[in-house]
Amino acid sequence: MSSVFGNVTIANALKDPSYFKTLQNIAASQPQLNVVEQYWSAWYTYMNNDVLATGIFFFLLHEFTYFFRCLPWMIIDQMPYFRKWKIQPTKIPSAKEQWYCFKSVLLSHFLVEAIPIWTFHPMCESLGISVEVPFPTIKRMTLEIALFFCLEDMWHYWAHRLFHYGVFYKYIHKQHHRYAAPFGLSAEYAHPAETLSLGFGTVGMPMLYVLYTGKLHLFTLSVWVVLRLFQAVDSHSGYDFPWSLNKFLPFWAGAEHHDLHHHYFIGNYASSFRWWDYCLDTEAGPEAKSAREERMRSKAEKNVKKNN
Ligand SMILES: [Zn+2]
Ligand SMILES: [Zn+2]
Repeated sequence: MSSVFGNVTIANALKDPSYFKTLQNIAASQPQLNVVEQYWSAWYTYMNNDVLATGIFFFLLHEFTYFFRCLPWMIIDQMPYFRKWKIQPTKIPSAKEQWYCFKSVLLSHFLVEAIPIWTFHPMCESLGISVEVPFPTIKRMTLEIALFFCLEDMWHYWAHRLFHYGVFYKYIHKQHHRYAAPFGLSAEYAHPAETLSLGFGTVGMPMLYVLYTGKLHLFTLSVWVVLRLFQAVDSHSGYDFPWSLNKFLPFWAGAEHHDLHHHYFIGNYASSFRWWDYCLDTEAGPEAKSAREERMRSKAEKNVKKNN
């Protein structure tokens, strides 16, 4: 039984043992739906079990987006032509390193996500996250996703900063810092405790949002997760191109920002934007360090003058 049409009878009438036949039935009887809405509602109608439909869809969405986004970076790493844009050009990940990272990430995905497959949909339902068609307007989705980017970035900045303290670093975050020169696949190479706590920024913030507003669509959440995965993989790619997003949006962090974090182990804690590290004076790298020292020196000189 599926509530994708808000009415179980419609779904039951359109359901067929074949996914594509279900899709055809929906296209014929619900022409007001756009193509994406038709594919979405056909999946829920065909599965006939919303808990499994959401769980499997989210698991596959994560796996396909993550590994397909990593693929171009794995190819680029093998092509010397791109070396001129590599931030740490002497540190190219070997095939052995990439293979090890791939296996670890895949295993942790299965271990960490096995339970959420069964619990995610009931949790969404109890919070008021809808799976029904039609989807919300593009304007609403854009505003919500922009808000999620800001909230996740704030969560990531503080949680990541905490992970650099003593025991948190030693027992949890050190695993992610195995690679001083990151590469795409290493984005989610982390201790399960880190995956869960930093992952709260991605999934937990939209949950808080729906608790407050009472309204959010699962499709919006899916688009947000895809964009956030792109951001995470790209910021670990190790490449800074003249056409990278941070060249057009100066507040966008990008690979240049996060590569410095892996290189120096300190500073640049935020994920998507530069403003937290800029405002709280935690920018990484030699240039930021000398600017910080210069500011401290002039402040000390001013104090001496004032006291004289
Ligand atoms: Zn770190
Ligand atoms: Zn990282």
